[in-house]
Amino acid sequence: MTRETVDILLKNASILTLDEDFHQYDPGALAIKGDTIVETGPGIDLVDKYEAREIFDCGGLVMMPGLINAHTHVPMTLLRGLADDLRLDVWLLGFMMPVEREFVSPDFVTLGTKIACLEMIRSGITCFADMYYFEEYVARTTAEIGLRAVCSQTVMKFPTPDADFYEESLLAARDFIERWKGNPLIMPSVAPHAPYTCTEEILRATAELAVEYDVPLHTHLAETASEVENSIRDHGMSVVPYVKTNHLFDAKVLAAHCVHVDESEIHTLLQHRAGVAHNPSSNLKLASGYAPVGKMIEAGLNVGIGTDGPASNNDLDMFEEVRLAAFLAKSVANDPTALPARTSLAMATCLGAKALHLGELTGSLKAGKRADLILVDVSRLHNSPRFRRDPNNLYAQLVYAGKSTDVRDVMVNGRWLMRDRLLTGLDEAELVQQAQEYARKIDLFLIQREKSVFSKLIAIGKTIEEESFEVQAKVRLPDPAPVLSSIKRPEIEVLRYRHYHEFDTYFLFSDPKLGTLRYREDEFIETGEHGNQARYRLTLIGPAREHKFPSDVLLSRSRYLAPAMYSLRFYREYFNPVTEISIEKDRRRWRVLFRGTEFYINLDRLDQPNLGYFVEVKSRTWSRSDAEHKASMAVELLEFLGASLEGRLTKDYLEMVQESIPNP
Ligand SMILES: [Zn+2]
Repeated sequence: MTRETVDILLKNASILTLDEDFHQYDPGALAIKGDTIVETGPGIDLVDKYEAREIFDCGGLVMMPGLINAHTHVPMTLLRGLADDLRLDVWLLGFMMPVEREFVSPDFVTLGTKIACLEMIRSGITCFADMYYFEEYVARTTAEIGLRAVCSQTVMKFPTPDADFYEESLLAARDFIERWKGNPLIMPSVAPHAPYTCTEEILRATAELAVEYDVPLHTHLAETASEVENSIRDHGMSVVPYVKTNHLFDAKVLAAHCVHVDESEIHTLLQHRAGVAHNPSSNLKLASGYAPVGKMIEAGLNVGIGTDGPASNNDLDMFEEVRLAAFLAKSVANDPTALPARTSLAMATCLGAKALHLGELTGSLKAGKRADLILVDVSRLHNSPRFRRDPNNLYAQLVYAGKSTDVRDVMVNGRWLMRDRLLTGLDEAELVQQAQEYARKIDLFLIQREKSVFSKLIAIGKTIEEESFEVQAKVRLPDPAPVLSSIKRPEIEVLRYRHYHEFDTYFLFSDPKLGTLRYREDEFIETGEHGNQARYRLTLIGPAREHKFPSDVLLSRSRYLAPAMYSLRFYREYFNPVTEISIEKDRRRWRVLFRGTEFYINLDRLDQPNLGYFVEVKSRTWSRSDAEHKASMAVELLEFLGASLEGRLTKDYLEMVQESIPNP
């Protein structure tokens, strides 16, 4: 009998195939021709059947499909440990995105990917789904090293390190897909970052692109409860139906997280064959909640396991993720039989491959699939002894006591990437040193930024710098009646009137030179042309009074004004003030013309703290001589309003409020 020739025959292994029937062979063998598995089966049969160019004795180790990291951002290895113990929005919008805008480049992405690939190979990962910027360099580096990946070029509505406008990233994604489509290791893909960082237009355009090239679409979905709340507020529906309306599921979707999805959303995901990447470490660390993994698996969804980016995990260790996935599912279900070891290991292999839409190619040790496999030593001290009575025992050993350092050999696409824990071609010490150099520069950048409230404001983007100088004079009033009647006199022409309820929160910093940041919520009390509405503004008030004119008229500087896009809680956690002061007042505001000069008159009643009535006159000014003129006009106007000049204040509310608070 002539024996069929193969390239490599791996023999003497305890094989977990993770195929549909969960076949195990012990001792088993596996034959490979080129990049493809020819057969997996009992050792005795295969050794007789095949003539191999190379016979490899696995020494009784466990052979299983390589682990699939279903969601990550590999270049973020360079941002590992940059900012931790923060809420997702502060972490992402306050730290990650500003640092990325400053530092992420092809060089950054290449170095970060090399480090990640090394770390992943060492922990038995043979395939990963990535989402980042300059994805071209993730793909190139990964292909050079020899790992398999779905590489997704990010598109979002904000400026990114590789595009000022989303149209550019969409074009880049198209180019990228065209270049890599058909590559044996890289599956190119497009990544609308998340529903809340994209517009409806972006969701639709990226879905169309993915459909046109028949490539996966990678996104973050329903990661936090507030994402769902905001979606309901802004779109009248939760996240999954919202993206469905925008045709996202026309594409082959890989959705990371899906923490906050209900049964009907699970059904929608299933109906559209979307893959889900469950990220237990990331969800736990960011306290995002508990994904209903048990329900999703039960429904028949392809749920893989991912590490998420190394800046939010902070490692790329799939052994840890698989164990956490199992523990978490049991704990959430209050049922130790939930998500048994075999299922969680399937999530990290065959189900993960299907979630990435690479199920035909990888994920199990089966004839016709690519030879992506690992050899794991389960006989070391921390994993001894081995019981053989229960066929599920080996799964349990791997999931509950296995460590990434137990991985001895790694093969991807029929090629060894690690033999006997040795990797070739990458200088680990050199990579660590280069990463350290980036860390040094980023530290310096953040130290500089933290010195100034202004630069921290600029860092969170979408901001308008507007420096304005104001002449202002303020008087405390025992009774507002004279002011109200004076305003009606013909000498004053009222250009506009508004009535607000104002809630001000002042952030004070340890160094007064940093200035004071005011978060203001204005609630219009009367329906004017804009109707009843609230607006939120952020103002950085300059540290010192610029100048004091006679009669206690002040020239002050407000450095910066912008609409407040995030919540007060976000700003509090991002700016981290030493003191916070809240003021609540009723404000009547007139824009008037008085003797040819435009002024604002603010008539305030301070309710919190209860300090009574104040009248303030203000005018914007641009030059020294104009300021002097307006300062004397301000005094005239106050006198005209009948405000007693004895009550004139040299301080603003903030100082008074601070003084009214008894010293502890
Ligand atoms: Zn992510």
